[in-house]
Amino acid sequence: MRIAKRFILICCIALLLMGCKKEDEIDVQAVIEQEKAEKEQEEEERREKERKRKEEEERKEAQRVQEEEEQKEAQRAQEEEQRRLEEQQAAMNARGGLTIVLDPGHSAMVAPGTEPLGPGSSEYKAADASGTSGVASGVREYELTLNISVQLKAELEERGYTVLMTRESNDVPVSCIERANVANNAGAAAYVRIHANGSENQGAAGAMTICTTPGSPYASELYSASRNLSDCILNKYCEMTGCRSEGVWETDTMSGNNWSRVPVTIVEMGYMTNPQEDLLMQTPEYQSKIVQGIANGIDLFLGFAG
Ligand SMILES: [Zn+2]
Repeated sequence: MRIAKRFILICCIALLLMGCKKEDEIDVQAVIEQEKAEKEQEEEERREKERKRKEEEERKEAQRVQEEEEQKEAQRAQEEEQRRLEEQQAAMNARGGLTIVLDPGHSAMVAPGTEPLGPGSSEYKAADASGTSGVASGVREYELTLNISVQLKAELEERGYTVLMTRESNDVPVSCIERANVANNAGAAAYVRIHANGSENQGAAGAMTICTTPGSPYASELYSASRNLSDCILNKYCEMTGCRSEGVWETDTMSGNNWSRVPVTIVEMGYMTNPQEDLLMQTPEYQSKIVQGIANGIDLFLGFAG
C-alpha cells in the first residue's frame, strides 16, 4: 500500500513536472513567435518607411525635373520673344529709312487746267478729275480715298515707314504732276495712288492695279519695279479682302503714273458703281482689310513679307 501510494505520488510529481515543462516550452515558443512577429513588424515598418522615403525622393526629383523643364521652356520662350522683337526692330529700322507716298485720288476741289500726259509729251490731259461716287452710299470717291489713305498712313507708320500724303484734306486742288512730284521729291520707295472704280455697268466688281507699259515713252526704266509693286499689292489686297481680281492693267494713259520717277501703281479698290461693293467699302471691317492688304503688298514689294 505504501508502495502504491509512493508510486502515485511520484507519478503525480512527474506529471506535474511534465506539465510545468510543457507550459515553459509553450511560453518560450510564444516569446519566440512574438519576437519574430515584432521583428517582422519592425521590418515591415522599416520597409514602409523606406518605401515612403523613396516615394518622397522620387516625387521631389520629378518636381525638380518638371521645374527645370518649365524654367528651360520659359527661357526658350523668352529667347524666342527676344529674337522676334529684334527682328521686328531691325525691320522697323530698315523701313524707317524708306518713304512711302500715298496719293488719295481726286479732291472736292478739282485742280483746274490741263497738263502734258507725260514728260516731253505734246498731248495734254485735265490736271485732275472729279472721280466717281457711291451709287448706294452716296459717298464721293475723294472722301473714300482720303479716308482709306489716312488709315493706311497710320498702319504704314506703325510698321516703321516714313509716310507722306499728296493731300490731307478734301479742300485742296492737287494736279497729277503736283501729286507725282511729292513722290519724286521724297525719293519714295513706292508711290501708291488710292482710287475706286466706276462703270456704266452696275454689275462690274473687283479690284485692279494700274502701271505703265514696258514700252512707255515716259517711264520704261521703271516698268519692272512698277509692275512688281502692282502685282504685290493686287495679290495681297485680294488675299486679304477676298475681292475678285481684275488683274494689272498696263497703260501709258495715266499722267500721274507717267510723271512718277519712282515705282508707282494705282489701286482701284473696287467699284463704287456696284451697290454691294460700294456699301462693303464703307464698312470699317472691310476698310481695315483694305488697309492691311495694301500695307502687306508694300511690305512684300520692299522685301519685308513675313
Ligand atoms: Zn479715281
